[in-house]
Amino acid sequence: MMKRKNSSGTGPDVVLIGAGIMSATLGVLLKELQPDITIEIFERLDVAAAESSDAWNNAGTGHSAFCELNYTPELPDGSIETSKAVSIAESFEISKQFWAYLIENNLIEIPESFIRSTSHMSFVWGEKNVDFLNKRYAALTNCHLFKGMEYSENPEQLEDWMPLIMDGRDKSQKVAATRMDIGTDVNFGELTRCMFNHLKEMDGVTLHFNHEVRKLKRQPDNSWRLKVKDLSSGNKRKVYTSFVFIGAGGGSLALLEKSDIPEGKGYGGFPVSGQWLKCTNPDVIQQHQAKVYGKAAVGSPPMSVPHLDTRMINGKRELLFGPYAGFSTKFLKKGSYFDLPSSIKIGNLRPMMAAGIKNIPLTKYLINQVRQSPEDRLAALREYYPNARSEDWELEKAGQRVQVIKKDPKHGGVLEFGTEVVSAADGSIAALLGASPGASTAVSIMLTLLGRCFKDEINSKEWQTKLKQMIPSYGESLGENGQLLEEVREHTSEVLGLKNMKQVQK
Ligand SMILES: Cc1cc2nc3c(=O)[nH]c(=O)nc-3n(C[C@H](O)[C@H](O)[C@H](O)COP(=O)(O)OP(=O)(O)OC[C@H]3O[C@@H](n4cnc5c(N)ncnc54)[C@H](O)[C@@H]3O)c2cc1C
Repeated sequence: MMKRKNSSGTGPDVVLIGAGIMSATLGVLLKELQPDITIEIFERLDVAAAESSDAWNNAGTGHSAFCELNYTPELPDGSIETSKAVSIAESFEISKQFWAYLIENNLIEIPESFIRSTSHMSFVWGEKNVDFLNKRYAALTNCHLFKGMEYSENPEQLEDWMPLIMDGRDKSQKVAATRMDIGTDVNFGELTRCMFNHLKEMDGVTLHFNHEVRKLKRQPDNSWRLKVKDLSSGNKRKVYTSFVFIGAGGGSLALLEKSDIPEGKGYGGFPVSGQWLKCTNPDVIQQHQAKVYGKAAVGSPPMSVPHLDTRMINGKRELLFGPYAGFSTKFLKKGSYFDLPSSIKIGNLRPMMAAGIKNIPLTKYLINQVRQSPEDRLAALREYYPNARSEDWELEKAGQRVQVIKKDPKHGGVLEFGTEVVSAADGSIAALLGASPGASTAVSIMLTLLGRCFKDEINSKEWQTKLKQMIPSYGESLGENGQLLEEVREHTSEVLGLKNMKQVQK
């Protein structure tokens, strides 16, 4: 790496703000690409991955678009749009290749602590939804990324795939499901902590917990000065660096605003909180072995798609249903109720108002979700698990998502449900906004960031060779190259201890 200069002549080459999966991924990538790079990481909490990346705060789905119906919208002409599904499936293959590299090179250990095979299924009822699922199945299985997917409308078959969901269901109801056996459940919290455990042992890397980044200021030479507060001692310090990654999850927007870069102007955030029902009855937990995603109710946001999920958290099998969406003005689970009001600035007022006006039904939906009684929540669960008993379930708080609001020339402002890398033109700072598809695509997102902020380095022979070594499919399309997909899937499934494609292909 060409060593960039910062005005103090001291300080690390890189500062990562936040110890979630995004900073962990970027830190490990950079250290592999450029072993002599120096990195300081600041995290306001006392442990890594305690916000969205923690296993209990997200759904742990290795998003591959096998079962998430919102990634394949139906177009007005009745056809199914598959481009987003293909891109998400490709991104997850990239993540798996990188994780396999980390395991093979002893950078992290024990894949079963963070990833395992779990069938991904979609389940729908009613004529219209069955028709949609059938078309989706036909459209997706045209692409080799989705080969091996099964489809059935036969209740007996479905009973075998998802007994809890079929037991006690109205026999006259038309139902259908798809099943993909190479789906995964991922403990992103564990993975993140493994990556930080490796990073902090490396020369030139320092990880500071209980340190909150309060301010960022661009220096005359385009490097950055950060003001950081040690929350345990109350001491403040200044840190100088030539590159900053704002990987602060829900805290990223506030820091991007403080950086004052023109590229960050006009962004706002819309917080959506979540809750799960967690099963406490081991007999029930044992009867379900899949992630079963349904169809979001008409008018509800994509992230509220209900799913009944087998999870493996800290070596224990769990069963979760949700998420139930909600509204809170906090941007982080351990954030402040002032997060939303204080994020509103002159620069983003118009986009925020325009997005607010356009999304009144969403706000109403979220407020209704907050007002749900335990009986309402049980009724929603019983749509998926008809014999559910309230005494077998308890309510858990999920992580906080901050959806991106951005300027839009036509509407003034729009609300987006994806993630967005916002970077300065000179590549000296980048922030990650948004939450979906999230942790599963962390590696692809960080590769995008490297392409924007380390333009010269990424095109160098050294970085290109290393990237190919870490991600054998780097630079190629797995959606187009079936042979390569087969090879990388076979390799990653072997290293990560996952079900092999050959075992499930018909
Ligand atoms: C309910 C829910 C379900 C989800 N389900 C899935 C799923 O099934 N699959 C999937 O792939 N993704 C899922 N996601 C998305 C995924 O969890 C996130 O995309 C991912 O964890 C974001 O990682 P991050 O590193 O950006 O943020 P985080 O993990 O939130 O980390 C940010 C860190 O920055 C710290 N921080 C904030 N401000 C400061 C500051 N000023 N100074 C220092 N530190 C700071 C925070 O304390 C935190 O530790 C889900 C998210 C939610 C909320």
